[in-house]
Amino acid sequence: MLPKKAAFIYSDKLSQHIISPSHPMQPKRLAMTYDLLKQYNAFNQNHAKVISPRKATRKELIKFHTEDYIDAVENISSSPNTISAALYNLGTSDNPIYTQMYEAALLSTGGSALAADLLLSSKFDSVFNISGGLHHAMRSNASGFCVFNDPVIAIEKFLEQKMKIIYIDIDCHHGDGVQEAFYNREDVLTISIHESGEFLFPGTGKTNEIGTGKGRGYSINVPLYPYTNDELYESTFKKIVPPLIEFFKPDILVTQMGIDSHFQDPITHLSLTVQGFTEILKIFKSFNLKWLSLGGGGYNLDAVARAWASGWGVISTQTLQNDIPMNYAKAYNTSSLFDLSPPEISNDIKNICKKFVEKNILALEKDLKSIYSINFD
Ligand SMILES: [Zn+2]
Repeated sequence: MLPKKAAFIYSDKLSQHIISPSHPMQPKRLAMTYDLLKQYNAFNQNHAKVISPRKATRKELIKFHTEDYIDAVENISSSPNTISAALYNLGTSDNPIYTQMYEAALLSTGGSALAADLLLSSKFDSVFNISGGLHHAMRSNASGFCVFNDPVIAIEKFLEQKMKIIYIDIDCHHGDGVQEAFYNREDVLTISIHESGEFLFPGTGKTNEIGTGKGRGYSINVPLYPYTNDELYESTFKKIVPPLIEFFKPDILVTQMGIDSHFQDPITHLSLTVQGFTEILKIFKSFNLKWLSLGGGGYNLDAVARAWASGWGVISTQTLQNDIPMNYAKAYNTSSLFDLSPPEISNDIKNICKKFVEKNILALEKDLKSIYSINFD
């Protein structure tokens, strides 16, 4: 059997803008991930290739976004007008207006559209767009650091080919924009595993959000309690995801791989490590499907670069040594790909986390029972 081919979508153009000096989303994290992988010598011509993104076209954007909103982003980006910006939830602290905002959004969205094209052309089996995964953007407004919703734009391309898509979102936040886009469809199964909306933006993602009309049962949410760690995360993932893959029989896997679930992330409260994140990616790979991977949240830059570098190792079937290559280690004062000191979590908190997720899985099973039969044992 020929080795599988993987593409990594990147160009320095993706990481040169600054959203605002104090904004948690720092495009520099993309350049750090790329630098780290380059020093690992993790790109080669044949089976682990870097491909530059292109801008998304209007034809691609209007598959989800309104023309009115796309025009507004373009106009506000070149001549900021805070009055009209407010209509689209732009010009806020989460979604500030910045120089080249429209161009940056077109390029990260185009990266995901290109990734979908590469998979459809069968030139690649797996593609990773680290600048994508902007899952909160809505049809006609920005939300949660996201201007255009690239996961939706990419999924629309697969739908045009009549494919069945499973979308799995492991970002710490609920994948609300993607869920809403396909809430009434039975050919896109969305799964979001996230810190409960009781504690974190955007507040949605309860187990009873299971879809509507023909889409009933095709929207799955698993909220987690703060401090949920690797062990509980992985066992929950293994309970929920494989039975749904078995039931749904997707043609393609789309994953949003935000790493704001990391224990050092400054704006969230889960307790994952880089090694825990990597184990989840190994499970994705074991499904043996065509695989579109997208980035997402992640606000501790060191953790983001290490996690997505490790992720690229899984995606492109390469083993990266745990010792960080010397030049990168010196430049960023980091030494080990995996986390050396995972957080200590008391047994009391562990029990609360376990009971919380068990209760949610039971509630989810009960809601799904009237639609199709599935067991999350
Ligand atoms: Zn997030």
